[in-house]
Amino acid sequence: MSRWIIAIDGPAAAGKGTLARRLAAYLRLPYLDTGLLYRAVGRRVLDRDESPTDAAAAECAALALQPEDMERTDLRDPAADAAASAVADVRGVRAALLDFQRRFGAERGAVLDGRDIGTVIFPNADLKLFVTASPEARAHRRWLELRGRGLGADLLDVERDIRARDARDIARTASPLVPAADAIPIDTTTLDADAAFAVALRAARSRFGLE
Ligand code: C5P
Repeated sequence: MSRWIIAIDGPAAAGKGTLARRLAAYLRLPYLDTGLLYRAVGRRVLDRDESPTDAAAAECAALALQPEDMERTDLRDPAADAAASAVADVRGVRAALLDFQRRFGAERGAVLDGRDIGTVIFPNADLKLFVTASPEARAHRRWLELRGRGLGADLLDVERDIRARDARDIARTASPLVPAADAIPIDTTTLDADAAFAVALRAARSRFGLE
Protein backbone atom coordinates (compact mmCIF):
# COMPACT_ATOMS: atom_id res chain seq x y z
CA MET A 1 0.00 0.00 0.00
CA SER A 2 1.20 3.52 -0.81
CA ARG A 3 2.35 5.80 1.99
CA TRP A 4 1.20 9.05 0.51
CA ILE A 5 1.08 12.17 2.63
CA ILE A 6 -1.78 14.51 1.76
CA ALA A 7 -1.76 17.93 3.45
CA ILE A 8 -5.05 19.83 3.62
CA ASP A 9 -4.74 23.31 5.09
CA GLY A 10 -7.03 26.30 5.34
CA PRO A 11 -8.99 28.52 7.72
CA ALA A 12 -11.71 27.44 10.16
CA ALA A 13 -14.92 25.92 8.80
CA ALA A 14 -13.80 25.92 5.16
CA GLY A 15 -14.74 22.24 4.78
CA LYS A 16 -11.26 20.75 5.28
CA GLY A 17 -12.35 18.10 7.76
CA THR A 18 -15.15 16.67 5.65
CA LEU A 19 -12.94 16.67 2.58
CA ALA A 20 -9.97 15.13 4.39
CA ARG A 21 -12.08 12.36 5.91
CA ARG A 22 -13.60 11.45 2.56
CA LEU A 23 -10.30 11.51 0.75
CA ALA A 24 -8.68 9.36 3.45
CA ALA A 25 -11.50 6.79 3.26
CA TYR A 26 -11.34 6.71 -0.55
CA LEU A 27 -7.55 6.28 -0.64
CA ARG A 28 -7.54 4.02 2.46
CA LEU A 29 -5.17 6.25 4.34
CA PRO A 30 -5.25 7.09 8.07
CA TYR A 31 -6.70 10.52 8.85
CA LEU A 32 -5.57 13.04 11.46
CA ASP A 33 -7.54 16.16 12.36
CA THR A 34 -4.65 18.17 13.78
CA GLY A 35 -7.01 20.86 15.10
CA LEU A 36 -8.08 18.31 17.71
CA LEU A 37 -4.56 18.32 19.15
CA TYR A 38 -4.70 22.07 19.75
CA ARG A 39 -8.26 21.80 21.06
CA ALA A 40 -7.22 19.08 23.55
CA VAL A 41 -4.28 21.20 24.73
CA GLY A 42 -6.62 24.18 25.18
CA ARG A 43 -9.05 22.05 27.17
CA ARG A 44 -6.29 20.78 29.46
CA VAL A 45 -5.33 24.38 30.21
CA LEU A 46 -8.96 25.33 30.93
CA ASP A 47 -9.36 22.29 33.21
CA ARG A 48 -6.56 23.62 35.36
CA ASP A 49 -8.16 27.07 35.52
CA GLU A 50 -5.18 28.51 33.73
CA SER A 51 -5.21 30.95 30.83
CA PRO A 52 -4.72 29.59 27.28
CA THR A 53 -2.65 32.72 26.56
CA ASP A 54 -0.19 31.75 29.32
CA ALA A 55 2.65 30.29 27.22
CA ALA A 56 4.20 28.23 30.04
CA ALA A 57 0.85 26.69 31.04
CA ALA A 58 0.01 25.91 27.39
CA GLU A 59 3.38 24.30 26.71
CA CYS A 60 3.11 22.23 29.89
CA ALA A 61 -0.35 21.00 28.77
CA ALA A 62 0.98 20.11 25.31
CA LEU A 63 3.84 18.09 26.78
CA ALA A 64 1.39 16.20 29.03
CA LEU A 65 -1.11 15.45 26.22
CA GLN A 66 -2.47 11.88 26.21
CA PRO A 67 -4.21 10.04 23.35
CA GLU A 68 -7.45 9.86 25.39
CA ASP A 69 -7.55 13.68 25.53
CA MET A 70 -8.51 13.60 21.85
CA GLU A 71 -11.58 11.47 22.67
CA ARG A 72 -13.19 14.16 24.85
CA THR A 73 -16.67 15.23 23.79
CA ASP A 74 -16.15 18.91 24.63
CA LEU A 75 -13.48 19.71 22.04
CA ARG A 76 -15.78 21.47 19.59
CA ASP A 77 -17.66 23.98 21.68
CA PRO A 78 -16.94 27.72 21.42
CA ALA A 79 -14.78 27.73 24.59
CA ALA A 80 -12.54 25.07 23.04
CA ASP A 81 -12.44 27.06 19.74
CA ALA A 82 -11.04 30.07 21.55
CA ALA A 83 -8.66 28.11 23.80
CA ALA A 84 -7.26 26.13 20.83
CA SER A 85 -6.71 29.31 18.85
CA ALA A 86 -4.80 30.86 21.77
CA VAL A 87 -2.56 27.88 22.58
CA ALA A 88 -1.80 27.43 18.86
CA ASP A 89 -0.02 30.78 19.03
CA VAL A 90 2.57 29.40 21.49
CA ARG A 91 5.79 28.26 19.82
CA GLY A 92 6.48 25.63 22.51
CA VAL A 93 3.04 24.08 21.96
CA ARG A 94 3.65 23.77 18.22
CA ALA A 95 7.08 22.23 18.85
CA ALA A 96 5.59 19.71 21.31
CA LEU A 97 2.95 18.59 18.77
CA LEU A 98 5.25 18.44 15.74
CA ASP A 99 6.75 15.00 16.38
CA PHE A 100 3.39 13.38 17.02
CA GLN A 101 2.08 14.63 13.66
CA ARG A 102 5.19 13.54 11.76
CA ARG A 103 5.17 10.10 13.36
CA PHE A 104 1.49 9.66 12.59
CA GLY A 105 2.10 10.31 8.90
CA ALA A 106 5.36 8.38 8.62
CA GLU A 107 3.86 5.05 9.70
CA ARG A 108 1.41 4.34 6.89
CA GLY A 109 1.03 7.65 5.08
CA ALA A 110 -1.92 9.87 5.98
CA VAL A 111 -4.31 12.64 5.15
CA LEU A 112 -3.80 15.44 7.70
CA ASP A 113 -5.79 18.63 7.93
CA GLY A 114 -4.74 21.78 9.73
CA ARG A 115 -3.07 25.13 9.15
CA ASP A 116 0.61 24.34 8.63
CA ILE A 117 0.70 20.76 7.36
CA GLY A 118 1.96 21.59 3.88
CA THR A 119 4.29 24.37 5.02
CA VAL A 120 5.86 23.08 8.25
CA ILE A 121 4.83 19.56 9.28
CA PHE A 122 5.18 17.89 5.87
CA PRO A 123 6.75 20.40 3.46
CA ASN A 124 7.43 17.48 1.08
CA ALA A 125 3.85 16.15 1.15
CA ASP A 126 2.84 14.28 -2.00
CA LEU A 127 -0.27 16.39 -2.47
CA LYS A 128 -1.22 19.71 -0.88
CA LEU A 129 -4.66 21.29 -0.96
CA PHE A 130 -5.52 24.71 0.44
CA VAL A 131 -9.23 24.92 1.18
CA THR A 132 -10.86 28.32 1.64
CA ALA A 133 -14.31 29.94 1.58
CA SER A 134 -15.58 33.43 2.34
CA PRO A 135 -15.84 34.28 6.06
CA GLU A 136 -19.62 34.66 5.66
CA ALA A 137 -20.00 31.19 4.14
CA ARG A 138 -17.78 29.64 6.81
CA ALA A 139 -19.63 31.38 9.62
CA HIS A 140 -22.95 30.17 8.24
CA ARG A 141 -21.72 26.57 8.07
CA ARG A 142 -20.33 26.72 11.59
CA TRP A 143 -23.58 28.26 12.85
CA LEU A 144 -25.62 25.44 11.26
CA GLU A 145 -23.26 22.89 12.80
CA LEU A 146 -23.63 24.44 16.26
CA ARG A 147 -27.41 24.54 15.89
CA GLY A 148 -27.41 20.92 14.80
CA ARG A 149 -25.67 20.07 18.06
CA GLY A 150 -28.21 22.03 20.08
CA LEU A 151 -25.75 24.87 20.77
CA GLY A 152 -27.68 28.00 19.87
CA ALA A 153 -25.49 30.90 18.77
CA ASP A 154 -25.87 34.24 17.10
CA LEU A 155 -24.68 34.16 13.47
CA LEU A 156 -22.87 37.50 13.80
CA ASP A 157 -21.05 36.28 16.93
CA VAL A 158 -19.97 33.14 15.09
CA GLU A 159 -18.66 35.24 12.18
CA ARG A 160 -16.80 37.55 14.56
CA ASP A 161 -15.15 34.55 16.29
CA ILE A 162 -14.15 33.02 12.96
CA ARG A 163 -12.62 36.28 11.76
CA ALA A 164 -10.71 36.63 15.07
CA ARG A 165 -9.34 33.07 14.76
CA ASP A 166 -8.36 33.72 11.12
CA ALA A 167 -6.54 36.90 12.12
CA ARG A 168 -4.62 35.11 14.88
CA ASP A 169 -3.74 32.15 12.60
CA ILE A 170 -2.48 34.49 9.86
CA ALA A 171 -0.59 36.93 12.08
CA ARG A 172 1.33 34.56 14.35
CA THR A 173 5.06 34.23 13.78
CA ALA A 174 5.17 30.50 14.57
CA SER A 175 3.73 28.57 11.60
CA PRO A 176 1.25 31.17 10.33
CA LEU A 177 -1.67 30.13 8.15
CA VAL A 178 -0.41 30.62 4.61
CA PRO A 179 -0.87 28.46 1.50
CA ALA A 180 2.21 26.42 0.54
CA ALA A 181 3.60 27.62 -2.79
CA ASP A 182 2.75 24.25 -4.36
CA ALA A 183 -0.74 23.84 -2.81
CA ILE A 184 -3.78 23.47 -5.06
CA PRO A 185 -6.43 26.01 -3.97
CA ILE A 186 -10.04 24.90 -3.55
CA ASP A 187 -12.60 27.64 -2.81
CA THR A 188 -15.69 26.00 -1.33
CA THR A 189 -17.80 29.18 -1.03
CA THR A 190 -20.17 27.93 -3.72
CA LEU A 191 -19.27 24.22 -3.62
CA ASP A 192 -21.13 21.64 -1.58
CA ALA A 193 -19.24 18.74 0.03
CA ASP A 194 -19.69 16.46 -3.02
CA ALA A 195 -18.44 19.08 -5.46
CA ALA A 196 -15.42 19.89 -3.26
CA PHE A 197 -14.63 16.18 -2.99
CA ALA A 198 -14.83 15.81 -6.79
CA VAL A 199 -12.25 18.60 -7.22
CA ALA A 200 -9.93 17.05 -4.62
CA LEU A 201 -10.30 13.59 -6.12
CA ARG A 202 -9.44 14.91 -9.57
CA ALA A 203 -6.27 16.46 -8.11
CA ALA A 204 -5.35 13.21 -6.30
CA ARG A 205 -5.97 11.05 -9.36
CA SER A 206 -3.85 13.25 -11.54
CA ARG A 207 -1.06 13.49 -8.95
CA PHE A 208 -0.95 9.75 -8.20
CA GLY A 209 -1.78 8.48 -11.68
CA LEU A 210 -4.97 6.73 -10.49
CA GLU A 211 -7.74 5.56 -12.83
O1 C5P B 1 -9.11 23.14 12.64
P1 C5P B 1 -9.70 23.59 13.94
O2 C5P B 1 -10.61 24.76 13.80
O3 C5P B 1 -10.31 22.48 14.73
O4 C5P B 1 -8.45 24.09 14.80
C1 C5P B 1 -8.60 24.67 16.06
C2 C5P B 1 -7.52 25.74 16.23
O5 C5P B 1 -6.24 25.13 16.27
C3 C5P B 1 -7.46 26.74 15.07
O6 C5P B 1 -8.17 27.95 15.37
C4 C5P B 1 -5.99 27.01 14.86
O7 C5P B 1 -5.62 28.19 15.52
C5 C5P B 1 -5.29 25.86 15.53
N1 C5P B 1 -4.61 24.96 14.60
C6 C5P B 1 -3.33 25.28 14.22
N2 C5P B 1 -2.61 24.42 13.43
C7 C5P B 1 -3.16 23.27 13.00
C8 C5P B 1 -4.49 22.94 13.35
C9 C5P B 1 -5.20 23.82 14.15
O8 C5P B 1 -2.81 26.33 14.59
N3 C5P B 1 -2.43 22.44 12.26
